[in-house]
Amino acid sequence: MITRLEAGGPNAIAVTNGIVGDEWTLWIVELALTDGLTQYNEWLNAGPISTAVLTTRLTRLVQADVLNRESGHYRLTKRGRQMWPILLSMWAWEQKWVNDPEANLPEMRHGKCGNIFSPLLACEACDSVVAARDVRGKFGPSGGWERSIPTGVTRRRAHSGSRPTELVTQTMALIGNRWSMALLGAAFLGATRFGEFEQRMGAPPTIVADRLRTFCDIGVLVASPNPQRPNWVVYRLTEKGRAFFPVVATVIDWGHRWFHAPEGPALRLTHAGCGRTFHPRLRCSECGERLRGASVQVERSPVKACSGT
Ligand SMILES: [Zn+2]
Ligand SMILES: [Zn+2]
Repeated sequence: MITRLEAGGPNAIAVTNGIVGDEWTLWIVELALTDGLTQYNEWLNAGPISTAVLTTRLTRLVQADVLNRESGHYRLTKRGRQMWPILLSMWAWEQKWVNDPEANLPEMRHGKCGNIFSPLLACEACDSVVAARDVRGKFGPSGGWERSIPTGVTRRRAHSGSRPTELVTQTMALIGNRWSMALLGAAFLGATRFGEFEQRMGAPPTIVADRLRTFCDIGVLVASPNPQRPNWVVYRLTEKGRAFFPVVATVIDWGHRWFHAPEGPALRLTHAGCGRTFHPRLRCSECGERLRGASVQVERSPVKACSGT
């Protein structure tokens, strides 16, 4: 079981991003959470996943103690069950900002008030709804760029391979590989110039340029002339980019909760509004109540349901 990380090794951000930065891993966790799948063949029959991919992902999830394997069943551990705010935040962002007709994202209903909702990000300490600009982040004792680079997601996915039906396409463009994740982190921690991204990502200039272009194409960053030096460009997060913050915040919070580096946390987040440490909580957009995993019902459109059910 990976709970305590090694001193000087990959930190909570690296380990967590290695889990959530993979579409199939998320899909496996999603079906365990929403449909209660526990058996190998249930996942195999639920989507276009190959036996090789399913086997490696299940093994990794057991190693990370997200799933527990016992007498032929893979059941979510407490740590696995608590991944629901991450999935909710991803779906909500994709629904609002991407709206891919192929994606077949589920709708979320709040059992308590009965309404279809989207989650609002709130501060646990003071309960107020927060935006990205209300939260300050800086590296903690196990932080730093090198230690935050995820292990196990360095390969780029083949575009020809099969993919889950519940696509979080642009989420994966942002967090589905190490350089994109590093760039996103740098942008949220205030990098705006090419040299700053290059230095923080520790990547060759061609890769930095490529990722900046992708982020601008998706509409998460916007490039504009630097007022001090007109022939330089600054890159800033757009509204769509800042709206991705709930995903970043829920991922980091989950990672910190379950993967402890001996030196302390990788990142310290502070809510500027109340001055206290920021822990994200999700609230229902319709009734305002704090969401609990058990009160969230996930509804899928029947249009693309697999045949044979
Ligand atoms: Zn607060
Ligand atoms: Zn509600």
